[in-house]
Amino acid sequence: MEAKTLSYALALTGIALAACAVAFALFRRERGVWIYAAGFVSAFVAYSLLLGQGDLPRAFSCVLASALLVFFQLCLAWGYRSRSGARPGWPRRFWAYAAATLASLSLATALVDSFALRAILSSCLTAIAAIEFLAAIRASDAAVAPILRLSARVVALAFIAFHAGRIALLAASGDSSAALAGDGAASAGLTEDGLANAYTLSFSLLFSVLWAGLVVALDVADLLSQLGRKNDALQAMATSDELTGLRNRHSLEPRLRAEMERSSRYGLPLSIVLFDIDHFKRVNDTWGHQAGDEVLRRMAGLASALVREPDDLFRWGGEEFLLVAPHTALAGAAALAEKLRLAVAREAFPLVGEVTASFGVAEWPPEGSLEAWFARVDQALYRAKNGGRNRVVAIGGDEALPVASVRIAWRDEWSSGNELIDAQHIRLIELANSLLAISLSGGEGESDAVDALVEHVKAHFADEERVLAEVGYPDAAAHAKLHAGLSLAAGELRTRLGAEGSSALFDFLVNRVVVEHLVKADSLFFAYTRGARG
Ligand code: GH3
Ligand code: MG
Ligand code: MG
Repeated sequence: MEAKTLSYALALTGIALAACAVAFALFRRERGVWIYAAGFVSAFVAYSLLLGQGDLPRAFSCVLASALLVFFQLCLAWGYRSRSGARPGWPRRFWAYAAATLASLSLATALVDSFALRAILSSCLTAIAAIEFLAAIRASDAAVAPILRLSARVVALAFIAFHAGRIALLAASGDSSAALAGDGAASAGLTEDGLANAYTLSFSLLFSVLWAGLVVALDVADLLSQLGRKNDALQAMATSDELTGLRNRHSLEPRLRAEMERSSRYGLPLSIVLFDIDHFKRVNDTWGHQAGDEVLRRMAGLASALVREPDDLFRWGGEEFLLVAPHTALAGAAALAEKLRLAVAREAFPLVGEVTASFGVAEWPPEGSLEAWFARVDQALYRAKNGGRNRVVAIGGDEALPVASVRIAWRDEWSSGNELIDAQHIRLIELANSLLAISLSGGEGESDAVDALVEHVKAHFADEERVLAEVGYPDAAAHAKLHAGLSLAAGELRTRLGAEGSSALFDFLVNRVVVEHLVKADSLFFAYTRGARG
């Protein structure tokens, strides 16, 4: 095809692309997009000036036009860096390149006025600008999707190859050496027919469209990734609580429904624990809202640190938290709640000091509704508050009435060999279990159960001391002293119950009666009682 026709096509494509780029920049109103648009306008001006080669002064149609094509390429690199936020040395480097381009093209034209030499120089400079574009991609690897990064690299490398081919063609044509020899080849221009010009013009057309497509694709990708980031941020804002960092109640229901589905399919137990800080209004009134907020943050941190991996903690509302305990039956969830309750009661909150919370526990009644389950946990919490606060109340999954238990199981190794002592120990464990159940289900009848336990302990201690004397246990006196201490503690249990709730029971029954006494102290005389039997 004629070079003149190709030049017109290039100029027309250039104006179309420049107009689109400016409209796009007006629409996008972003610095990086404006820089791209400036590049496309430079390219259009350059193509138009090239058309005037031979008619216009060479300073415009050759020097300025070539420089503007290098600017175009530099603008792509600059725009890319600007969009990706990685632009060390830019735009100072851009202006340094631009100045060097103008100076070298002007100087070359002044020294040897040859079209071919100017074209080779311009191709070299354009290729360098394309290398800068590649460097910009490298500098912002993380910000661009791999497929687009690859496309951008392929276009830039093909463009560099095109200029290398152009340099080779121009050098092979002999035009440049003729010019150096002063053969008057300076008058030649891009609009004159010839292989090198046809090659240059056709590929310039192809690349102007390719670069435009690439710029739009990069912008769309950037917009999509911005949108994705904003969506993530919005999602996080919508589902998490800003103060405590916990998830909020919006994300609770989907989570619970998924757990219900899983529990129903695999027949696994599922429980929730709802807890509410006791007298939190007082904290705010006495120490101020900020201190209250700090308590909420600390409470969230404390509880999060205590729960295990599949468990999930949510901020249910103001000073209420909800714990989802998958694969956990009522007793396990009540024990977990008790652990949390103790941890909260023991924590020294800065400024505020002691803070307690009340806990409601409910197991999902298989195939029951979420609403009914919530009503149950709400009722459990209500009972915990009414029962004196700072306590755990659990409500079973298949019954409307509170029937929770954390059981101490009898072990054969606790057998002393003496029938009376063993029967009394087994009874002691029974009484302890029923007391724990009563305490966990709201505390009704708790004081009667404590009385029964205390009575039993007293009678048992008297019998045990008598048996130990009979079998000649040498430390019988020391053991009787332990009994006296425990009797005293059992007597104090009722007053402790009022102040400390069920943790006093756990402490007394599990730690003092079972662990310290039954497992440690009593086992010392087993050799004597078992021997006496033998
Ligand atoms: P109790 O639960 O023991 O019956 O007594 P309470 O004083 O905790 O009772 P209530 O649930 O009525 O009070 C809750 C208070 O928690 C009222 C509200 O001002 C406060 N609160 C709720 N959300 C926040 C919060 O984000 N920050 C602070 N500082 N206070 C909050
Ligand atoms: Mg409260
Ligand atoms: Mg409340």
